[in-house]
Amino acid sequence: MAEIVVVGGGLAGLAAAARLAKLRHRVTLIERDPTIGGALRGVERDGFRWDAGAATTTLPAVLRDLFRKSGRPLESYLDIQLSNPSRRHVFTDGAVVDLPTGSRAAQITAVDAGLGDGTGLQWAAYVDQQADRWHLLRSLVLDDPRGGSRLSDREVVRQLDARTSLAQQLKRSLPDERLRAVVSSSFELAGSDPARVPAYAAVESYVERNFGLWQLPGGMAALIGALAARLSERGVDVRCRETVTRVMTRGDAAAGVETSAGHLVSADVVVCAVDPRVVFGQLLALSLAGKARRVFDAARPVTPPCITHVGLRGALPDLPAETVLHGNPLIVIRQQLHPLVSATHEATTGPHSESAWTILQRGGHDVDVLATLASRGVDIRSQVVARVDRSPDEVVAETGGSSYGFEWDGWRASAKRAALTNPLPGLHLIGASMHPGSTIPYAAWGAAHVAERLGKA
Ligand SMILES: Cc1cc2nc3c(=O)[nH]c(=O)nc-3n(C[C@H](O)[C@H](O)[C@H](O)COP(=O)(O)OP(=O)(O)OC[C@H]3O[C@@H](n4cnc5c(N)ncnc54)[C@H](O)[C@@H]3O)c2cc1C
Repeated sequence: MAEIVVVGGGLAGLAAAARLAKLRHRVTLIERDPTIGGALRGVERDGFRWDAGAATTTLPAVLRDLFRKSGRPLESYLDIQLSNPSRRHVFTDGAVVDLPTGSRAAQITAVDAGLGDGTGLQWAAYVDQQADRWHLLRSLVLDDPRGGSRLSDREVVRQLDARTSLAQQLKRSLPDERLRAVVSSSFELAGSDPARVPAYAAVESYVERNFGLWQLPGGMAALIGALAARLSERGVDVRCRETVTRVMTRGDAAAGVETSAGHLVSADVVVCAVDPRVVFGQLLALSLAGKARRVFDAARPVTPPCITHVGLRGALPDLPAETVLHGNPLIVIRQQLHPLVSATHEATTGPHSESAWTILQRGGHDVDVLATLASRGVDIRSQVVARVDRSPDEVVAETGGSSYGFEWDGWRASAKRAALTNPLPGLHLIGASMHPGSTIPYAAWGAAHVAERLGKA
C-alpha cells in the first residue's frame, strides 16, 4: 500500500482519490477551500441554483468508468440525462439550427431545415471525417496511461495530422461559414483562436454526435456530492481549508506536502490536481522545477468568459441545454434542469414558472449582457428575480487557476506540457491544465491514467 496525497478537490483530484482508494492505497486529499468541487460547485441565490462552471458533459462513459472502478455504478447515485436537441445555434443572418445528438440522419435533417438543402450532408461529411481521427486519438494517446509523452512522437503527430490547424481544416472542409461557426464557437468560448487549435481537437463534433451531451438534474454539484460519498465510503481523509504550499522531496523524488497550517503530510506519491504553474512555480524547488517552469511560463491560461446567472419568473422560450448566439459578442445561454434549491420553494411558486439561466459572454463586456440579449431578440429583463454576476477574475480566483486549462497554442506546446505529467518519481500532475485537458471527461480521464500508472497497492 502506498501513502498518497492528492492536492486539489476539483473533479480531477476527487476522481483520482476515489480510484486510488479503491486500489487500496491510503489517500489524503487536501483542498484549500471550505468545500470540495472546484469549478463544479453550485451557485445559489434567492432560492435559485446554477452550475458555477460546467453544466453539461460529453463522453458519459468516462464518468461511468470512474464510478464502476471506484465501487458502484454511476446510476446508483445519479440520474444522468441525455439532452436532445443538445444545442440551438442562432446565426447572425437569423437562421436557427436545433442540433440533435446521437443520430447522423437527425443531424442532416436539422441542418437542412435550418440552413438549407445540402448543408446537412456537408455537415455530416465533416463529422464523419472526425470519426477516424477520434479512433486514432483514442488508441494512440487517450487510452494510454503514458499517452501524454506520445504526443511528441513523430509517427503519432503524422497520423493525427497534428500540424494542421482547426482554422485550416474548416476552410478546407466546410464551405458554409455558419457550419464553420458551429465548430469554432466552442473553442472561442473556451478562449482559443481556431488558428492555434490543432485540427484533431475537432473530434469533439463526432464525440457529441455519437455519444451525446448529458446533464444532471441537480446540476454538476450532484456529481460532486456523489464523489464525496465515494470518498467517505473508501476512507479517504479529506482535509478542506488547507492550502498546499510545498511539495516535499527526498533526493529527486516527491515525499509529501506541507500545508499553510504548517502540517507536513508525508507520502510515497503526490498527485497534484491544481494549476501546474503553481506546482512548478511555487510548490517545487527551483532546482527540480527549472525546465518545466519555463515550459509553463510560456503558456497562457484561458481567461474565462463573463458569467451572469439569472433566476427568471414567467413564461420563457423552451430552450435546449445550450443556446449559442453567434456573432460578436459570442453568447451562450445554459438552462438549468432543476432551477430551484428546495421543493418547498418550488411548491409555493409553482413548478413551471421559474427558470435558471447561466449566460456566458465572450467579448462586448462594456454593455450589460441583458441589454445585449434584448438586442438579439431575447428580452428577459422584466422577468429577472435573482442575479449573480461573476467576472473572469473572480472565476479564476475561485479555483486558484484556470479550470478551462491553457489556451491552445499549437500541438507542439501542448505536447511539451503533456510530456510533463510525471516530471519526477512520485509526482503526478492531472487536471484541466494537464494532459489530456480540460472539461469534465478529460479532467476525469487524467485521473484514470494516474490510477493505471500506479496500479494496485
Ligand atoms: C465557466 C466554466 C464553464 C465550463 N463549462 C464546461 C462544460 O459545459 N462542460 C465541461 O465538460 N467542462 C466545462 N468547464 C470545464 C470544467 O469545469 C473543468 O475543466 C473541470 O471541472 C476542471 O476540474 P479540475 O479538477 O481540473 O480543476 P478545478 O475544478 O479548477 O479544481 C482545482 C481545485 O484545487 C484547489 N486548489 C488550488 N490550489 C490549491 C492548493 N495549493 N492547495 C489545495 N487546493 C488547491 C481549488 O480550490 C479547486 O477546488 C467549464 C469551466 C468553467 C470555468
